[in-house]
Amino acid sequence: MALIVHKYGGTSMGSAERIRNVAKRVAKWARAGHQMVVVPSAMSGETNRLLGLAKELSPAVGSPELNRELDMIAATGEQVSVGLLAIALQAEGVEAVSYTGWQVPVATDSSFTKARIESIDDTRVRADLAAGKVVVIAGFQGVDEDQNITTLGRGGSDTSAVAIAAALKAAECLIYTDVDGVYTTDPRIVPEARRLHTISFEEMLEMASLGSKILQIRSVEFAGKYRVPLRVLSSFTPWDISIEEEAKSGTLISFEEDEKMEQAVVSGIAFNRDEAKVTLLGVPDKPGIAFQILGPVADANIDIDVIIQNVSHDGKTDFSFTVHRNDYARTMELLEKTVGPATQAAKVVGDARICKVSIVGIGMRSHVGVASKMFRALSEEGINIQMISTSEIKTSVVIDEKYMELAVRALHRAFELEQIPT
Ligand code: ASP
Ligand code: MG
Repeated sequence: MALIVHKYGGTSMGSAERIRNVAKRVAKWARAGHQMVVVPSAMSGETNRLLGLAKELSPAVGSPELNRELDMIAATGEQVSVGLLAIALQAEGVEAVSYTGWQVPVATDSSFTKARIESIDDTRVRADLAAGKVVVIAGFQGVDEDQNITTLGRGGSDTSAVAIAAALKAAECLIYTDVDGVYTTDPRIVPEARRLHTISFEEMLEMASLGSKILQIRSVEFAGKYRVPLRVLSSFTPWDISIEEEAKSGTLISFEEDEKMEQAVVSGIAFNRDEAKVTLLGVPDKPGIAFQILGPVADANIDIDVIIQNVSHDGKTDFSFTVHRNDYARTMELLEKTVGPATQAAKVVGDARICKVSIVGIGMRSHVGVASKMFRALSEEGINIQMISTSEIKTSVVIDEKYMELAVRALHRAFELEQIPT
């Protein structure tokens, strides 16, 4: 018997029929003697629907003053889910109780629409578990110190589930979703993509931050910080398969580096279309120039990703970096109006039609020639690399967006990711 947290995404909660399936699955685990905490998302499409209603009422939705109200609205999606799931569980003959975030409470800071969890009080939940109840807790939400309802950012139920698992020191947090695990890359782009049985926590962190949308990145960070064993698995397997079978399906996000020792050098390929590139041409190459350019960008709260500075000619250099595509217009304006003139840049140019493709693997730490193999594969396809960035366990390139799929396929082939590593 163990304390287990299950998280069910919006698709898994998408209809009464699916909620009944979730209830049957949870009931199976509870009957096997496990203490169960379940964290569902809103029914699929519901959060968008709710936020859409707000948008219909005011063009100001999106500006920070209204974020408190948006959280008030968006949090109801999960509130409906927990109530429905608790009812469905009782219909299966399992005692269950539902809670919103503030009832637990899940304490967060006050950054509405992207709040961070600060602490979770487990008293109430533990008492219910001890009384033999399944506890159903609304994902995606919490409460700040002034009793305002907050939400954790889109996809935030993953983070709720992992944080709750950490607070309760759960044996495992199972994230049930509409895919059956983490793949070497997106199977919609590479049909031969293979499901990974395990991926190391660090690799998952890179995959998630590089655009693989399976888990909210913060949930992976949380899992790493508190060493919560995480498994991503499908909620579409028959609910009555054996627990043993279920418990080893999907992909385990593991902390055991040794398990990975004999595995592939590269574990997966991630890609991200959400970036845009900006360049300052002909800036004076002198001490402090990078700070002069990037300081104001950081002050404007714009995240910078890849940065590149060229070798200088005649005391001038070109300086490029990438930002999120949502920040592109704002960044261009900042560069054209302030930073460009202040740094005496000859010209400011931008390109929103780029993408970033990355190879990820902890094996890259101990192997040489991995990046060059990547560059060769891309050159054989005639793909021009605009920027490169590396860390210990990944190499990313920025390329023209129109070659993204070609690049991902070429790399998947070059690193033979369709084959089980021996
Ligand atoms: N319902 C929220 C969203 O759609 C949170 C989640 O699903 O994880 O973003
Ligand atoms: Mg999700």
